[in-house]
Amino acid sequence: MTQVPRPNSAAARDVRSQLHPYTNPLALEQDGPVIVTRGDGAWVEDEAGARYIEGLAGLWCTALGFSAEERLARVAYDQMRMLAFYHPFGQKAHLPGIDLAEALLAMAPVPMSKVLFSGSGSEANDTALKLIRFYNNALGRPEKKKVISRIKAYHGVTLATASLTGLPNNHRDFDLPMPGILHTSCPHHYRFALEGESPEAFATRCADDLEALIQAEGPETIAAFFAEPVMGAGGVIVPPPTYFEKIQAVLKRHDILFVVDEVICGFGRTGNVWGSQTFGLEPDMLTCAKQLSSGYMPLSALMMTEKVYQVIRDNAGRIGILGHGYTYGGHPVSCAVAREVLRLYEERDLFAHAATVGPVMQKRLRTLADHPLVGEVRGVGLVAGVEIVRDKASRQPFDPAQGVGLAIGRNLHRHGVITRVIGDTVAFSPPLIITEEEIDAMVSRVARALDDTLAWCR
Ligand code: PLP
Repeated sequence: MTQVPRPNSAAARDVRSQLHPYTNPLALEQDGPVIVTRGDGAWVEDEAGARYIEGLAGLWCTALGFSAEERLARVAYDQMRMLAFYHPFGQKAHLPGIDLAEALLAMAPVPMSKVLFSGSGSEANDTALKLIRFYNNALGRPEKKKVISRIKAYHGVTLATASLTGLPNNHRDFDLPMPGILHTSCPHHYRFALEGESPEAFATRCADDLEALIQAEGPETIAAFFAEPVMGAGGVIVPPPTYFEKIQAVLKRHDILFVVDEVICGFGRTGNVWGSQTFGLEPDMLTCAKQLSSGYMPLSALMMTEKVYQVIRDNAGRIGILGHGYTYGGHPVSCAVAREVLRLYEERDLFAHAATVGPVMQKRLRTLADHPLVGEVRGVGLVAGVEIVRDKASRQPFDPAQGVGLAIGRNLHRHGVITRVIGDTVAFSPPLIITEEEIDAMVSRVARALDDTLAWCR
């Protein structure tokens, strides 16, 4: 990482040829990339043979880890040979798509009626945004179009979903958010509660903020509310008790659709199959991706209730077509692999395993709470965040110009842990197959990285 790449090395070729997402290009030009070449279990290896615990399951997605899964390779191979491409446009269908849609409907957290596949989490959420417009136009209420998400939400990077995302770097200099997308308060008690405010009182205040925003805009103009059960890329923010109960009461009162973004939380991440089950959510629409295929093939899904489907069906029927769909949405190879991934989850009882090791990870990470750099350790199941502060008592963060986040990232890397430092928070979302021993190894390496960072700061 910290060496200037040799001219014909893969690193130099990379610097010459690729613009990397979520990367500082100047740092890339100076230091080159880390080229990951292989993986096994919860571990990956770089070009030089150094091994790392993958503390974020790639991008919160490789539930099954990084070992070669012969069965999945075989399913992909067989599907490529049988029918390498087909699509559900124009009244066509393919068997892998049908099988996977049925499997998803059977496991949905609330009764769902239909599945619409696309290729990424962003596309699934963008599709939801479009269908919400379509739905309200069909119901003869064209003014009911505004959508609310939350500060620090992450829902994707298309123009519309980056607008839903409530993070400054996704808006700045992209001229976003677009009009009609609003952000309400972030339910992070540690950061935003008032002095002495209980988690429940804070939850009430968040719901009151939502109500106030709806009233200010006019309830007849608000179409939908988007939320992740646990906010992931915004810094792993777990809502306080009673939060979603109170939020859902507000939404029901104003006939506002609830879109639950399960792109990270779906498929065992929070200790249940769905984050919706962990937090008692009743989505009208649900989006999922990532662990749907263990991240091995690009795939996402939008599920909708019968109530939503009926309106969309009738309107599209009147128009003569539902004018939406992606070439690669529900690709047969992706669907076949995802269906087999769901079988592997079941056969290996992986969600039960995640529900067992999740609390172990939470407990071990909480041993870091006394560290002078740690303000808060939070999380549920196998997703957690460790928030770094300059001063524990005042909760004051470091000045970003000091580069403490970068230093922690460097030290984690040196100690053989890959994860993401998001703002002031080190995020953890390891493959669901991680063992207790690997959790121990990961947390002790994190502790060493924090110690090194502390020494560097002083
Ligand atoms: N929603 C959530 C909660 C996510 O975490 C992400 C990606 O991290 C997305 C949506 C966007 O998914 P994609 O990167 O596949 O477009």
